[in-house]
Amino acid sequence: MKILAYPNGIFGATTYLAYDEKSLEGVIVDCTSSVDEIEKEIKNKKIKLKYILITHGHFDHVYCVAKMKEKFQSALVMMNKDDLPLLNQVPLQCSMAGIDEIKVPCIDGLLDENTKNLTLGNTEIKIIHTKGHSKGGVCYLINDVLFSGDTLFRASIGRCDLFGGDYKEIEDSIKNKLFVLDENITVYPGHGDKTTIGYEKKYNPYFGSNY
Ligand SMILES: [Zn+2]
Repeated sequence: MKILAYPNGIFGATTYLAYDEKSLEGVIVDCTSSVDEIEKEIKNKKIKLKYILITHGHFDHVYCVAKMKEKFQSALVMMNKDDLPLLNQVPLQCSMAGIDEIKVPCIDGLLDENTKNLTLGNTEIKIIHTKGHSKGGVCYLINDVLFSGDTLFRASIGRCDLFGGDYKEIEDSIKNKLFVLDENITVYPGHGDKTTIGYEKKYNPYFGSNY
């Protein structure tokens, strides 16, 4: 799987384009910048964009979802239902941050840990519900790659002081749902550099080195 990162979104949020080099099926994970650049890449490489997967409903992760969907209308925009209330506040989130308001992006489908039919090439896209940063925050596991949204960062974790945030929940999510994964899995977070599960178990200051 080929992964391209566009880390110049709002508040430094990263948009990812991932695709299977054999089938050329692709997904976008969060969408906050670089729409024209990504469109060019998709067209040049003849990528068949299947999904725009949202990790959670904060405006800095969904800012360009509607714009991207306009360009690739057959791609399904998917997220977890528990973040719909947050998504509905996107215009408010924008105005509070002092940036141009966007409309609430349309969602084509909801997903949770029981969703089984999402695939990229021959690989299942697994959904891991990791509440704590928000109620409906999810990570997407595709083979040995985890898109962690604002749940787990390199040597840090997501904020818990925003609407729907809860420190105990994010701690539980990371410990019981992410740190049980293979240590070699590469983690692509919603902000900042990539990391691995093994590195975070050892060095993430929120967890010590007890794992
Ligand atoms: Zn967030």
